[in-house]
Order: sequence, then C-alpha cells, then structure tokens
Amino acid sequence: MTTLERINRMSVKLPEEICAKLRKVLTAPFRVVILTHMNPDGDAIGSMLGLYHFLKKRGCTVNMAVPNEIPQFLSWMEGAEQILDFRGQRQQVEDELGKTDLIFCLDLNDPDRLGDIKEIFGKTDVLKILIDHHPNPVDFTDHMISVTSASSTAELVHQFIINLDGKESIDKTIAESLFVGIMTDTGCFSFNSSKPGTYEVVSDLLQAGIDKNHIHSLVYDNYTEERMRLLGYSLTEKMVVLKEHRAAYIYLSREELEKFKHQNGDTEGFVNYPFSINNIRVTALFLEKKKHVKISFRSKGKFSINLFARKYFNGGGHHNAAGGESMDNLEDTVRRFESLIAGYSDEINQLP
Ligand code: 5GP
Ligand code: MN
Repeated sequence: MTTLERINRMSVKLPEEICAKLRKVLTAPFRVVILTHMNPDGDAIGSMLGLYHFLKKRGCTVNMAVPNEIPQFLSWMEGAEQILDFRGQRQQVEDELGKTDLIFCLDLNDPDRLGDIKEIFGKTDVLKILIDHHPNPVDFTDHMISVTSASSTAELVHQFIINLDGKESIDKTIAESLFVGIMTDTGCFSFNSSKPGTYEVVSDLLQAGIDKNHIHSLVYDNYTEERMRLLGYSLTEKMVVLKEHRAAYIYLSREELEKFKHQNGDTEGFVNYPFSINNIRVTALFLEKKKHVKISFRSKGKFSINLFARKYFNGGGHHNAAGGESMDNLEDTVRRFESLIAGYSDEINQLP
C-alpha cells in the first residue's frame, strides 16, 4: 500500500490503478478500522456501517469506533452493536488501532472531530483514507476523497464501493445503512439533495431491495413520549424569535433536558423547526452540557453559518449547517449569539 501515490481531493471516481491496489489488499487477513466524528449522526453511522458490511463481505477484519455514544434513534441499525464507544471501550479501541493495517475516517474534515480518539490516531503509522463531504478539509490522511458537493458521506461510500466492485456488491444491508446516511443528511431530501446523482444512488439502493418507508419509520417514528413533549415545550416556552434579524433560536438547560429524560439524539432536528416560521433565515439550538454549551446552527442561502460557527464558536460544518460550542454559561452564550447576529442583520436582511 505504501506505493500508492498521495492523491488529495480525489474525485468520486477513483483512478483505476488505486482501485486495483485496494481490491488486492482489501481482503483477508487485512485489518481495517473505521472512525467517525463526535456526536455521530445518521450519516456518520450510516456511512460507517455501509463500509463495514462491504469490507466484512470482502473478508477483512473490520472494527468501528466512535468518540462518544451513538444516538438511540440509530441503535436498530444492523451492526450498530459492534461499534466501539471510546468513552467506555478505550482499551479495545487502542488495541485495534495498534494492530490495524488501514484506517478510514468518515464524515469529518478535521482530526479534532475525532475527539479523544485523535491522540491515539495521531500516533498510528498506517495508511489512512478520508471519505468526506465537509468544506475545507484538513490534510491529515494519506488519501482524501473529499467531495463538498455530495449530499452525504454515505453517497461517497456508495461510489467508493461501486468503483471497487460494481453495483452488484451493494446488498440490502449495505444499502439500508447508506440510505440512512443520505436520508438523514438531506433532512429527508429537503436540502443538499438537488443533484440528480443523489437520486441515481438512491435508485441503486432501492434496487438492492431496501424498504425505504420502513427505514424512515425506524428513524423518525421511534422516539419516546418525553422527547415529543420536550419538542413541544421547546417550541412554546424556549424558542426566541428575533424578527428584525430573521433569526430564531431554542435554548435548553440541563435541568430542562433531564426533566424530559433527554437521551442522546433526542434533540436531533430541533434546530430546523424555527424555519417553519416565514422569513426566518438563521436558526440555532443551544444545549447546556456539564462543562459547556453545545450549539447547532442552520442558515438559508448565501449566509455562511459555517464561517459564523468557526469564527465565534470554535466550530464548523457545512455552509448552511454547522455546530460549535461555548464555555460561557447558557444565558451568556445566548446573549452573545444575539449580539453577534445583530451585527449580521444587514447581510441577513439582504437575503432573498
Ligand atoms: P449538528 O448541528 O447536526 O450537530 O451538526 C451540523 C454539522 O456541523 C455537521 O456536519 C457536523 O459534523 C458539524 N458540526 C457540529 N458540531 C461541530 C463542532 O463542534 N465543530 C465542527 N468543526 N463541526 C461541527
Ligand atoms: Mn455528513
């Protein structure tokens, strides 16, 4: 593998000589570890499991690890129980990273997104391949399949698989995993999904026999009653609309989250609700954690919430969907957001 030349920003179509080399090594007894980002979402886990099932079928010994817990709404996915959680299984992750031949990093553009796994990852001296669709990727792997225009990393993993072994190698389990990635990262095909290519991929997945409606139901109709009531409470009591800046946000304290028995993943999607109000172009969700405030940001159109999150909240993400954090308390964080967004009012008000 060391003879593989270094190619950054490879297009979706892998050069044939690289495919040929990968085909040769990606089989028994080759060992692979797949990693993805902190607070893993549907695309992180979907692309991870899609690649996992594919490489297992090829005979590789495959291990998967995440920096922290996978959300409850993805726990039904086939293979999810095999994913190592670094918080509770540190030694096992360390052992696997110590003996692997290759590491895939999925759905992240910066090693910082590996959380506490970053340190051990940095010490490993094996081939590393990144597959991702976030803008401004950091050059930290040997190979980078970075396609910012892709709907999701799952879409890129699909391309990776068919580049290697053709469409026939996509079985129902692989297809199910990849569909979860595409469906969740496009908000059920409401954003990042205007390219015909995305639907060609979905067509392949349907042909592999997935039950699209059932998958949708497993992801979105599987929450607890408390989560539904937390959503209601958030919208009636904890949503602030800044009409003059075309922005709206929701903020929740730890106490409130605990009152509604909050589980990881319960607030997924909350940040999108304020867009239902006409004229809103920027939204945010503030969640109080033990030591910091975790923030999700969304924007519409030209206003880059990615740059905003990077500049003021030590975060990043995509042009219209990003995250960040604050070490101030919840009230101060929200107040800071309000004053920062006021500074962008003219820009936001010029948006169509
Ligand atoms: P979400 O708001 O759904 O958690 O994340 C939206 C997007 O921003 C995702 O692409 C996610 O990977 C990215 N993101 C979320 N939090 C952070 C963060 O703290 N730092 C960076 N760099 N990206 C983040
Ligand atoms: Mn993604």
